Amino acid sequence: MTHDRTGREIRLAARPHGAPGPQHFELVRTALPALTDGQVLVRNTWMSVDPYMRGRMDDAPSYLPPFQVGASLEGSAVGVVVESRAAGVPEGATVSHFLGWREYAVLDAATARVLDVSTVPAQVYLGPLGTTGLTAYVALSEIAPVRPGDTVFVSAAAGAVGSVAGQVARLLGAARVIGSAGGPQKAKRLVADFGYDAALDHRAGPIAAQLTEAAPEGIDVYLDNVGGDHLAAAIAAARPGARFALVGAVSGYNATAPVPGPANLFEAYWKEVSMRGMLVTSYLHRFPEWTERATAWLRDGALHTTETVADGLDQAPAALLGVLSGANTGKMLVRLDAPGEDA
Ligand code: NAP
Repeated sequence: MTHDRTGREIRLAARPHGAPGPQHFELVRTALPALTDGQVLVRNTWMSVDPYMRGRMDDAPSYLPPFQVGASLEGSAVGVVVESRAAGVPEGATVSHFLGWREYAVLDAATARVLDVSTVPAQVYLGPLGTTGLTAYVALSEIAPVRPGDTVFVSAAAGAVGSVAGQVARLLGAARVIGSAGGPQKAKRLVADFGYDAALDHRAGPIAAQLTEAAPEGIDVYLDNVGGDHLAAAIAAARPGARFALVGAVSGYNATAPVPGPANLFEAYWKEVSMRGMLVTSYLHRFPEWTERATAWLRDGALHTTETVADGLDQAPAALLGVLSGANTGKMLVRLDAPGEDA
């Protein structure tokens, strides 16, 4: 079967050196291929915008292959099946998949997950009920497990992972939860909305001094989203036997030269600090457990989340630049079926 449907997609126009800009992206209208057996055509409604996407713009080895210049970008998205040649994934189903950055996706049904949107909006599966929420949960329950009475520090605490992590730390028994974010508005929201006891503003002054003041007796757990000065501050504040989950290092994603490690790393030796990296894709088996707990927490109000929404595919590059520079609070999303978008 053939059709003349077209859709727009964002392609990598050129590789950035340092911070990316609009010139590194290209919005292109393209003809959609006809479906073959086992495939579905999905009209994407929301796409996720994540800091790791910056790494895929470089031609450098990583855990995911680089985006190719001239080819469309990829990433998590949700959408509605508008045509199906796959049993089990009917027209009208809402699915999540990995072909974001485009209005329509033709994909093998086996790579799509049918979502239950009867009680939560579809985009929640890109945030708290997606790998974002799972990352916070695995980091604090397995990688750097929170024990009752702990003092926990989370960086990029007003972001997608961080805004969930503070509340999860509390629900897992932490006695005191400290978060850092950029700017007074975000700092305020850490305490007002995301369950933090104390907020540090990394734009207001050195983070190490602020952490020492907020945790005079030190920290037991650190969820590192940022690296750099934040990791060094956490090492300085670590109590003996502290556990660190190395989740991300967003402060260095636009670096043009290798980023040096923390100058005080030696302190981790004599404090017997455990530092363990994690990739959420290695923990997808914990999705059912997280989904059950998070759904209950979202329902009873124990878990409060928020989103920053950009409207329209043409805004997706700006949304990625924004997530790297702190334009978001909570999960950064692009709504693709916004009014005014031509389908
Ligand atoms: P996010 O926190 O929503 O967005 C990134 C945030 O980083 C920005 O909002 C900004 O917030 C902050 N930031 C940027 N530059 C900074 C700097 N120089 N110093 C301090 N903060 C800075 O993104 P996310 O999706 O939740 O991801 C958070 C981290 O987790 C990222 O490092 C990401 O790569 C990582 N991650 C890892 C996994 C995994 O499997 N290991 C999975 C998901 C995410 P401020 O305005 O507060 O500075």
